Amino acid sequence: MEKRIYNFSAGPAILPEDVLKEAQEDLFVLPGVGMSILEISHRSKKFDEIHAAAKNDLKTLFNLSDDYQLLFLQGGASLQFSMVPLNLMPPKNKADYIVTGTWSKKAVKEAKRVGAVNIAATTESENFKRIPKPEEIKLDPDAAYVHFTSNNTIFGTEWQNEPETGNVPLICDASSDILSRKINVNKYGLIYAGAQKNMGPSGVTFVIIRKDLIARSGDSLHTMLSYKTHAENDSLYNTPSVFGIYIIGLIAKWMLKNGGVDAMSKLNTEKAQLLYKCLDESAGYYKGHADKDSRSNMNITWRLPSEDLEKKLISEATKAGFDGLKGHRSVGGLRASIYNAFPKKGVEDLVEFLNDFKTKNA
Ligand SMILES: *Cc1c(COP(=O)(O)O)cnc(C)c1O
Repeated sequence: MEKRIYNFSAGPAILPEDVLKEAQEDLFVLPGVGMSILEISHRSKKFDEIHAAAKNDLKTLFNLSDDYQLLFLQGGASLQFSMVPLNLMPPKNKADYIVTGTWSKKAVKEAKRVGAVNIAATTESENFKRIPKPEEIKLDPDAAYVHFTSNNTIFGTEWQNEPETGNVPLICDASSDILSRKINVNKYGLIYAGAQKNMGPSGVTFVIIRKDLIARSGDSLHTMLSYKTHAENDSLYNTPSVFGIYIIGLIAKWMLKNGGVDAMSKLNTEKAQLLYKCLDESAGYYKGHADKDSRSNMNITWRLPSEDLEKKLISEATKAGFDGLKGHRSVGGLRASIYNAFPKKGVEDLVEFLNDFKTKNA
């Protein structure tokens, strides 16, 4: 079999090797079914079991109370930019958005089509190198909800604690740090994530919704755009991503087997610290984009003294088996995405490579 390389891609991203192997082994015939997961009906008994197990294991991982419901939708996190305001903004027709990067801005763009958007805080004038401080956030106590992006995939910043919103429901785009650390779900009204960064393959959007908010979905909404439809039909109003839910289920099992969210969080901090230490000890050769108090444990972004050196590093890194390090154009430089499934050894090897590159090219 061909050797696997280190995949630092921001998403779709690396998946646990154990999960890939299990999926591969069972791909031709699912045990006891005589068909593959790609061929079974979403109304079959076997899929019922897979779906129920995935939901149960995720409930355990999130320590979810009965006040919340899990949904597996489609359309990506990007469709949630529309579904959130369409379902949750009326009747007040106004909401607060905290803008910390490209994805928050895209969420604002769709919300504005539905009602009034109050930009409660933004760090755009500093090219999103930090998360706003609590005293900078100007919330409207009468807003329908507050929306924020917990981890900014492109800029490499992450909220250390979620904003405090009192009784106003807190809505979170957690696409790139879901399940990477412990959160208290009870503080949230709704959490959504495209699965393809930290919890599965592309093609599934994961949503946790507080049950009382489901009542906000108006009857005039298009059926497929209504949370009520998907909640009442347990994500099976139409054909879901059967394969995606299956893989998410395997990943949830893999996480539970390996110590759950706490163990994952500890490991993620260790991995990120290794890389940040390398940047910090490079005497300014590697310059992190994010302010120290806003650093992400998932996406680490940095620059070199020149674009030529950045190009050289990326090309040499690719040859050495480190793939996907090129930064997003809005930051430039490099980005290492080191999600849950990314091995610590890969970060250690990258640090060695970076130190070596610096010695040769400083
Ligand atoms: C990738 C990403 C998105 C977009 O996800 P899609 O599933 O491609 O629509 C939205 N928000 C964040 C924070 C992301 O990282």
